[in-house]
Amino acid sequence: MRAEVIPYERDPRWTSHGPAPDLVEELRGRARTAGLMTPHIRAGVHLSHRGTALVLRAAGLSPLGPVALNVSAPDEGNMFLLGRVASPEQKKQFLEPLVSGRSRSAFFMTEPAADGGAGSDPSMMQTTAEPDGEHWVINGRKAFITGAVGAAVGIVMAKSEAGATMFLVSLPDPAVRIERVLDTIDGSMAGGHSVVHLDNLRVHRSQMLGDSGEGFRYAQVRLAPARLTHCMRWHGACARAQEIAVDYAVKRHAFGKPLIDHEGVGFMLADNRIELTQAALMIDWCADVLDSGAQGTLESSMTKAAVSEALFRIADRCVQVMGGTGVSGDTIVEKVFREIRAFRIYDGPTEVHKWSLAKAIKREALSKGAR
Ligand SMILES: Cc1cc2nc3c(=O)[nH]c(=O)nc-3n(C[C@H](O)[C@H](O)[C@H](O)COP(=O)(O)OP(=O)(O)OC[C@H]3O[C@@H](n4cnc5c(N)ncnc54)[C@H](O)[C@@H]3O)c2cc1C
Repeated sequence: MRAEVIPYERDPRWTSHGPAPDLVEELRGRARTAGLMTPHIRAGVHLSHRGTALVLRAAGLSPLGPVALNVSAPDEGNMFLLGRVASPEQKKQFLEPLVSGRSRSAFFMTEPAADGGAGSDPSMMQTTAEPDGEHWVINGRKAFITGAVGAAVGIVMAKSEAGATMFLVSLPDPAVRIERVLDTIDGSMAGGHSVVHLDNLRVHRSQMLGDSGEGFRYAQVRLAPARLTHCMRWHGACARAQEIAVDYAVKRHAFGKPLIDHEGVGFMLADNRIELTQAALMIDWCADVLDSGAQGTLESSMTKAAVSEALFRIADRCVQVMGGTGVSGDTIVEKVFREIRAFRIYDGPTEVHKWSLAKAIKREALSKGAR
């Protein structure tokens, strides 16, 4: 990361809509040369979640690291899902090119709020899938679809008669029209985040992922580990922000001494160290739960809520410790702060995770006979 990727952080091809395709190619070329392409899947075998945590926290040291090593969202989660649910033929067609790092993918679930579509509540899904002979015909609009621009593989969630269903789609397809790429606070994910119109998209029935009506169950298979890998990557980024803030506070003087010797600053950096350690431990705990074979829905919810909020506080303190430099583009700290702000929303806003947890707490209490 430090020798090969971090120097690219000043490359003008890193735009507000993510790293441009030729930058992604160049970074991946370097990863390949170093033998580090898709390092969490070796010879078709996925590392344990605990092992993945080590690799992804290191990859996250630069916001460009995950895309360079092919462990970025949404590809990493999509590869995990396809590894679990896809048929052997689907794996050959859709998973292999992803694992090789030669193509990118997108996950189409969220729909525009203005249409009243699926967001925090996926059951509000409006996109439909109707059978037509050997095909399904999909119609709807999707929003915030990360990486839709430039993706070769799409996983589209739509409502069939049996319920939410996932379909694999080869992209580009004229029936999958990018309406616009949104301007968002973050900017590290290749292709940015798009509003997409699915207009009579025809998908052969062999490209249904798993069974009809099982979409929400498969989404859970993807979501628990995908939430956790976001925590891993952004933990790496905040660890780097902390290094930069510490360096600043040790070198910069005010009122006759280094900033770090002022208690107000020292305490912020100490709080950061404490919360980084707590976050790492919680990530490892949740990884162990998933490695035990459990689905880890609640554990990953708790971890995502706690870690995203802690990382936001950490990134904010790093900005504060660095004064004006902290909000400037002179270091990566400002970008990390913006990335983490978005992380508190995607893969479930904090409030939704807490709400799910509260429902579970109530269920437990009632099952124990509480009134
Ligand atoms: C950068 C980014 C990338 C994304 N990438 C993708 C992608 O690739 N594919 C995809 O399908 N989606 C993607 N999303 C969408 C993301 O998953 C949704 O934004 C998220 O699920 C929230 O949905 P919403 O934006 O419609 O918010 P809404 O559903 O409108 O919710 C707004 C707010 O209401 C509150 N809220 C909602 N429900 C509850 C509750 N039960 N209790 C308390 N408060 C509640 C929360 O504070 C929430 O933030 C992405 C989003 C972002 C920001």
